[in-house]
Amino acid sequence: MIVNIITLFPDMFSGVFSESILSRAITNGHLSVRIVNLREYGLGSHRVVDDTPYGGGGGMILKPEPIAGALEDIPERGHVILTSPRGRLFRQADALRLSSLDAVTIVCGHYEGVDERVSELFVHEELSIGDYVLTGGELPAMVIVDAFVRLIPGVLGHDTSQSGDSHYEGLLEYPHYTRPREFRGLAVPEVLLSGNHERIRAWRKEMSVMKTREMRPDLLDKSPGGTPDRDDA
Ligand code: SAM
Repeated sequence: MIVNIITLFPDMFSGVFSESILSRAITNGHLSVRIVNLREYGLGSHRVVDDTPYGGGGGMILKPEPIAGALEDIPERGHVILTSPRGRLFRQADALRLSSLDAVTIVCGHYEGVDERVSELFVHEELSIGDYVLTGGELPAMVIVDAFVRLIPGVLGHDTSQSGDSHYEGLLEYPHYTRPREFRGLAVPEVLLSGNHERIRAWRKEMSVMKTREMRPDLLDKSPGGTPDRDDA
């Protein structure tokens, strides 16, 4: 999978792609990342990338020409995403969909946003990572890439790693425990020590539904029949 990211702040990405699973995905050949510095496509000797909005109002708008230039220079652009708080909410189902593509390009907005014609001409979808406003699209781009790269087959240690995750099948995940058996007076639930896989499976499913009802009842409401059935839970 090829991931291109167009940004005014390329250095922000050095940490995220040089650590942990994303770094390993690059080393193992699952992921190839190109960070494009939008400033290099700025206009004139000052490399201008922004201008005041037509119609007045505060803030600056990213101009269309530098973004168009950067996009048109990318050899394999694939699916183009604009990060935007007005975009559709990014969900696990989107991560799964994006993980199967050959190439994804993410445009990081800044200031008051991006000239609308960029969306009209180049962008396949606008994605928001939540109902709040960040200073730029760099953190959203990192969130989106991290979420879909871990779903590319072979990227995680073993292929079942993500199948029990929260949101994978509409439920939040059940509680996990590891050694020691007792910590500060709290014991690991007996069922997990029983060795009875059928009981463990049933307990996990019950906990999963319980946690979802407690933390995110809206997820249960959305699922067909109210209580999704999850075999792996
Ligand atoms: N004026 C814009 C608005 O009200 O919709 C907000 C612009 S924001 C300060 C600058 C850039 O940050 C946006 O163009 C977008 O790329 C990014 N951004 C901010 N919040 C975001 C969010 N929740 N999801 C995705 N991108 C976001």
